[in-house]
Amino acid sequence: MPMRETEAMVLRSHPLGESDRIVTFLTRSSGKVRGVAKGARRSRRRFGSNLEPLSRVRLSYFEREGSELARIEGADLLESFYRLQEEPERGAVLACMAEVADAFAREQQEDEPYFRLLHAVLRAIRDGLDLGPGARYFEIWTLRLHGVLPPLTVCERCGGDLTARGGIYHRREGGVVCRRCVPGSTPGSVMLPKGALAAAAAILKDAPAALIGRSFAPGALGPLQGLAEALFFDLTERRFKSYEVLRALRGTSR
Ligand SMILES: [Zn+2]
Repeated sequence: MPMRETEAMVLRSHPLGESDRIVTFLTRSSGKVRGVAKGARRSRRRFGSNLEPLSRVRLSYFEREGSELARIEGADLLESFYRLQEEPERGAVLACMAEVADAFAREQQEDEPYFRLLHAVLRAIRDGLDLGPGARYFEIWTLRLHGVLPPLTVCERCGGDLTARGGIYHRREGGVVCRRCVPGSTPGSVMLPKGALAAAAAILKDAPAALIGRSFAPGALGPLQGLAEALFFDLTERRFKSYEVLRALRGTSR
């Protein structure tokens, strides 16, 4: 099999035996790729610290017949986001993004817009985008790029406009409805005030770097996190551990 080369972001890396590592990448040309980096634990000569989470690397690998694990030949560092993760809260938020990307990236299929999304959000955070809008940007666009973000401007049931009065994400309806259609909150539903829908509209309209310095209405971003987590749970049927770690770090229950 020919050697493949592509740009890639490291999503996670864990030890395999005494001397190797299994590394998951979001690649520019082939979506999610998992592979074995031989000797990456024992010696740092070949891979150095290039396999740290969220490193952007020039990856070369061989696919292996009959195995879902590739053989990693090289990972030359192009850009490191290691320093960005040294601050604990920021590190925890970036870990959430890596876990979400691991769950949603298409395996071994082209998913270049998703690669570009992760890269653009990391760069914007490095350049001063606040963690709240940065994380919400990544969540909302993860859902949009994978075709699972419900419409946020009109009611799923009656088609009425939501921008003036807000709406409710309703699990049973599978979308966002107006308060006339569903007046109360039910388990698993998320209230989305109009400020939250306006913040989502800004996120869907602009590049992440364009949101640096932009202020959002108080209480606008929290419900968007609630929406993203509800959809993540409904789609994957699991809760992401890194969000629990972040909540524990912040000392909040939600
Ligand atoms: Zn309605």
